[in-house]
Amino acid sequence: MNISTLAHTARTSLRQIRVMQRAGIIDLRNPPQVVRTAATMRAYGPIAGGIRTSARRTPDRIALIDGDRRISYRELDARTDAIAAHWHAAGFDRTHTIGVLCPDGARLVETMAAAAKLGARLVLLNTGFGAAQLRDVLAREQVRALVLDPGLAALADDLPGDVTLLEVDASPGGEPLPAPAEQAGFVLLTGGTTGTPKGAPRRVESPLAAAQFVDRVPLRRGQTVLLCAPLFHGTALSQFIVSLNLGSTIVLHGRFDAARALSQIAEHRADMVVLVPTMLRRILDLGPEVLSTNDTTSLRIIFTAGAALPSSLGTRAIEAFGPVIYNFYGCTETGTATIATPQDWIAAPGTVGKAPVGITVALYDGDTLVTEPGTVGTVHVGNAIAIAGYSGGGGKQIRGGLMSTGDLGHFDTGGRLFIDGRDDDMIISGGENVFPGEIEDLLYKHPAITEAAVIGVPDEEFGQRLAAFVVAATELDADTVRAYVKTHLARFKAPRDVLFVEELPRTPTGKIDRRGLAALR
Ligand code: AMP
Repeated sequence: MNISTLAHTARTSLRQIRVMQRAGIIDLRNPPQVVRTAATMRAYGPIAGGIRTSARRTPDRIALIDGDRRISYRELDARTDAIAAHWHAAGFDRTHTIGVLCPDGARLVETMAAAAKLGARLVLLNTGFGAAQLRDVLAREQVRALVLDPGLAALADDLPGDVTLLEVDASPGGEPLPAPAEQAGFVLLTGGTTGTPKGAPRRVESPLAAAQFVDRVPLRRGQTVLLCAPLFHGTALSQFIVSLNLGSTIVLHGRFDAARALSQIAEHRADMVVLVPTMLRRILDLGPEVLSTNDTTSLRIIFTAGAALPSSLGTRAIEAFGPVIYNFYGCTETGTATIATPQDWIAAPGTVGKAPVGITVALYDGDTLVTEPGTVGTVHVGNAIAIAGYSGGGGKQIRGGLMSTGDLGHFDTGGRLFIDGRDDDMIISGGENVFPGEIEDLLYKHPAITEAAVIGVPDEEFGQRLAAFVVAATELDADTVRAYVKTHLARFKAPRDVLFVEELPRTPTGKIDRRGLAALR
């Protein structure tokens, strides 16, 4: 490393420490506590380490609200000590891989923390899995023990023979385990809509990694956070981890219901809500009357991620809740790429903002770096928590030390990033490159359109032609949709096919399922 790289790294570390101090993750006025927190993180990882640290600092603070249950940090730490000790007594240790298939709730959280207390590798399984996908993933990830939600017990009949079902038993008994020698980390699964999802294994080794989540978002100690996005996905998981480390109260929403989410914000005086864009739309669609009967003045942060936030939707949210929209962009493999603050959004609606401290974002066209504003390139990210590769082998493309997200994007003159769509969703029609994102964003602005998606379909003359799928709120016909696009964008961007559907197929993390759309035709 040369002197200037060293100086840059030192400056970045200082900024990361400053950001963590501001948020209250560390308290530099208390150096022994900082040292102890860092040692706890190293031994137990960010989840169990966050719980243990907050149990020391604010033991009586409520850590989890799950329905009528309230669990303090002290209790959560003690319960997960007991669960880990029972699993150890049953013959499991840090050499085993534990899977968990549970909807958001205390059981899922306790499994995550107890696995880390063993030092075991944990695989977070998607609750939307079918039996065949589950079997494939369990075998590939060499899962030996599984915590299965009672509500999903039907899947138990179909498990591979070498998988033991684990109970989450927090009854006292057994000596607390010594700190594990090493953390094996956790595996997230990519959201493949068909076939077997890939495993993205991750160990969070640097305690400075948390800075990326608190730099551009005003998170502080002891807030109340409503998690609506599912915890098996990186969006909610990252916010969950940061919240544990801030000693915040986490309200676990479970199966999404817009009216319940709104009333939970009011009931718990939530500072932050974590959701995917479709959830935000459903909350806004409850209408001004329902919105006004719930007091949402406590909300400081609406954290949306996982899929594109249409500009009209973000702007509607600001009108309803004030300037509190944070549009987070990243992917399972790279972790955080950029975050748009409300100020970014107001200046440039539709943006995903800028990279927080410690993260580098660059665009490439092939191997050429793209720096010109307005020019499209593939987004590449440098983040210390990026995965090293998939558990089944392979990984994302690396250029200049940065990992590709597979999305196409461009910067504006203010250096803010915009996502134009995934590179494999780009449509080439009659030799013209068309990005579905731009057309979709325009369609969302039409007062009669609630949701829209655009894909390319095979066409004898043009190679591909554009097909728009539209969920209409009121009477609307295909010619009106085409004419609307033509008046705002180039003619070749007007969809030739316009199909009206009841709803768009989406993945559990809010992404449009484009293969599912093609099948609707
Ligand atoms: P996942 O790996 O499931 O987190 O999916 C990551 C992908 O979701 C990204 O590569 C984007 O295609 C999309 N995505 C996530 N967040 C955003 C966002 N804020 N705006 C646009 N696309 C997004």
